[in-house]
Amino acid sequence: MSEPALVLDSTAFYAGIPYQGNGRYFTTYLVLEEIKHHSVGSSLIHTRVQVTEPSAEAIERVRSTAKQTGDAGALSQTDLSLLALALDLSKGEGGASLVSDDFAVRNVAEVLSIPLSKTALKGGEWKNVTWRLHCKGCGKQYTNPKLTQCPVCGTQLVRKGLTS
Ligand SMILES: [Zn+2]
Repeated sequence: MSEPALVLDSTAFYAGIPYQGNGRYFTTYLVLEEIKHHSVGSSLIHTRVQVTEPSAEAIERVRSTAKQTGDAGALSQTDLSLLALALDLSKGEGGASLVSDDFAVRNVAEVLSIPLSKTALKGGEWKNVTWRLHCKGCGKQYTNPKLTQCPVCGTQLVRKGLTS
C-alpha cells in the first residue's frame, strides 16, 4: 500500500513539509508561483514535489461549492486550484489529503469530502488542530462546517482552531 499523496499549500512549503519524510507531494502551478521567490530550493521542488494542474470539472465543482458555503470570497485562485487538485487526486489510486491551515480551504474541503491532513500551522509550528465554530451568544460549539449561525440563539458563529 502506498501512502496517500499530500497536496500542499504555500504555508506547507514554508514549514518544510516536503523536505521531511518520503511522502508523495503534489501542488499546483499557482502555489509554485507564490513560493518561487522563497529560498525553498526549486530543484527540490522538482524532484520531490509533482506540480500538476487540476481538471476544469474539479475547479467548477470547487467554485460552486464555495459559493454554497459562503467561502467563495475568502478563496484565492490559488486556493481554488489546490482544492480542485486535491479533489481530483482524492479519487485516484491511493487517495490524497490536503495540507492547508486556511479555514475557508478546510471548510470547502470538508463539504467536498476531500480528506484533510490533521496538521495545521499554529503559531509557526505544525500541530493537530480541531476546528470548531463557537457561539459568542450562548457559548455552544459546533463542528458542522456548513453552519454560519447558531441554531440555538441565531448569533453569527466564530471560527476557532483548538490545538490538541
Ligand atoms: Zn448560540
